[in-house]
Amino acid sequence: MGTQAELRCRCGEVVGVVTDASPRTVNRVVCYCDDCQAFAHQIGRADLLNAKGGSDIVQVAPASLKFVKGQDRIAGVRLKPKGLFRYHTTCCNTPVGNTLSPAIPFVGILVQAFDTETQRADQVFGPPTGAIFGKCAIGEPPPGSTGPNLPLMLRAIAKVLGWRLTGKARPHPFFKANTPEPIFPLTVLASERREALRQHCGPRPTV
Ligand SMILES: [Zn+2]
Ligand SMILES: [Zn+2]
Repeated sequence: MGTQAELRCRCGEVVGVVTDASPRTVNRVVCYCDDCQAFAHQIGRADLLNAKGGSDIVQVAPASLKFVKGQDRIAGVRLKPKGLFRYHTTCCNTPVGNTLSPAIPFVGILVQAFDTETQRADQVFGPPTGAIFGKCAIGEPPPGSTGPNLPLMLRAIAKVLGWRLTGKARPHPFFKANTPEPIFPLTVLASERREALRQHCGPRPTV
């Protein structure tokens, strides 16, 4: 229902749609955590991070996202065996959704995938509502990004709970129907690789 937003990888091989797209139905937050930074470096897309290493993320209900093209070009990375599933395209390494499990239903998508020739993410989802994990930001942390941001946290919890209670956890774009089994191929990073990636991340990158 409502506005439909298109998600598109940089090269256009992978396309998805988000239904019911509006500032009201999503959470848009800039995340400065070192895991988000490490993932961007892992897939060679540090260009998607802002100057302080932030990832501008739109969180949507799993059932609202559907891939309509290029599903065979999606793969996932886990920084740790039990870490977030972070999916990207294999054609051009565009992040297309991070997620945890159908029990904690959300999909976080880097906003750039929504900036297309005919669509601006800001117009569909509104601007970011805040920033989190500023302690890992590169350089001076953005204002309000370091302490616990209670309104932001409550809003995120309310959204995820709401999605769970209103049946928007399924169908899940990244898990097979009725199972916790991932649809797309996955790589779990070795701890040495993870440590190597950390050197690129804030607060003080060493390489
Ligand atoms: Zn692509
Ligand atoms: Zn993060």
